[in-house]
Amino acid sequence: MIYDQARYVENGQYEPLLSEKETTEVDVGGDDSPLPDDLTRDSVELPDLSEPELARHYTRLSQMNWSIDSGPYPLGSCTMKYNPKFTEAVAADPNGSVHPDRSDESIQGNLELLYGLQEYLAEIGGMDAVTLQPPAGAAGEFAGILVAKAYHEANGEDRNEVIIPASAHGTNFASAAMAGYDVVELPSAEDGRVDVEALEAAVGDDTAALMLTNPNTVGLFERDIEHIAETVHDAGGLLYYDGANLNALLGRARPGDMGFDIMHYNVHKTFATPHGGGGPGAGPVGVVDELAEYLPSPRVRERSSGSGYELFDPEQSVGKVHGFQGNWLVLVKAYAYIARLGDEGLLDASAKAVLNANYLGSQVEFDIPYGPYHHEFAATSGEKDAADVAKRMLDYGVHPPTTKWPEMVPEAMLTEPTEIESKKSLDDLAAAFNNAAADDEETLADAPTRTTARRIDQVSAARNPRLSWRALGDDE
Ligand SMILES: *Cc1c(COP(=O)(O)O)cnc(C)c1O
Repeated sequence: MIYDQARYVENGQYEPLLSEKETTEVDVGGDDSPLPDDLTRDSVELPDLSEPELARHYTRLSQMNWSIDSGPYPLGSCTMKYNPKFTEAVAADPNGSVHPDRSDESIQGNLELLYGLQEYLAEIGGMDAVTLQPPAGAAGEFAGILVAKAYHEANGEDRNEVIIPASAHGTNFASAAMAGYDVVELPSAEDGRVDVEALEAAVGDDTAALMLTNPNTVGLFERDIEHIAETVHDAGGLLYYDGANLNALLGRARPGDMGFDIMHYNVHKTFATPHGGGGPGAGPVGVVDELAEYLPSPRVRERSSGSGYELFDPEQSVGKVHGFQGNWLVLVKAYAYIARLGDEGLLDASAKAVLNANYLGSQVEFDIPYGPYHHEFAATSGEKDAADVAKRMLDYGVHPPTTKWPEMVPEAMLTEPTEIESKKSLDDLAAAFNNAAADDEETLADAPTRTTARRIDQVSAARNPRLSWRALGDDE
């Protein structure tokens, strides 16, 4: 069994699929179609539901999920911050929903917004040029590394290595490999930061780029960042900034000023906009001047006449990495969020993100091996299995942290409350950690007991997915 459906029923929360509810045969007039008979049908079985039944179906399903609108969601590295509803209202404006193939002239408002977001992001990151096209942080990484590759190739340089710290997100390794590079993994120093001596030994004529997250994935700021940048640049390499942790720095420090040449922004993390379950998101990429001509196309610029905006293809563009200008509605929400918060609001967000993480960390009884940390901390559950502790936290009514990553912390619980939580809600979160810490092994191993789905066999679900629905009890 892929997941334990019986348990859904056991907890009284099983909700049949629409196709399992009462259905009605509806005539769809296939007889009249000019298409071949084997490609048409005369009728389909459709659920036979009234509006209230339909509303209940989706509401019940939504109640089986955890979301940022139901409670704390301190999933480290993911920055699951509350998404203000005004951004949804802005994105829902029907005037903004135009066909992307329309002429520049007829979508000036849309282009102005996209241009404004390019400018906002460039300013926030200390970059010179931005593309909004990549649809996720990982896609931004891939696009950014392709830009680095195009730059080196244009300079007649044959560099085949990308250096990545062991503590980096898995997508860094994957992006570099997909772009055709050999990955050189850099060990962490004892203090949890980049091992500068190891870096000095690793860089050379083969180095195309170093990919770095700052603060890193256990929340530590790379204090030697200027020296690190110099080391990579002196070897002829480029410095790539993984922007997933930008929430810690908003308005305070800029990757461009630290010496980074390329960065992606996870706008769905840093600038609100809902994410999870694989999307949707956006991973704009910013670069310094020298790299601007390689960015994916199209970008938006002001017309040379000085009035209005136009799309253009950068001269030596690496091409397209997504359709049109990217995930429009996500970009609208990010723009609305930045515009509403303004300079002071962004400063306030990063201040509270760091304060909240540090307050929560001070209340949690688990050991936190590395610090001082910024917007997130990696606690360790020690002798206890971090996954068991996480499952038990579900019973205490909160979403658990990211578990077992980064690997430099054994049984890691990477926790990022973000700026949105109140002191009361941070205290509730701390209580959930501490209650789980006090529970015995047996209780932990049996958790969660109060959720709709209990322990899911994730390995089978990934290795042996069932791609079509079978009714309960029908195992074949
Ligand atoms: C989330 C994350 C990514 C990948 O971003 P996606 O938008 O999920 O593709 C990369 N690096 C770090 C550190 C992250 O937390």
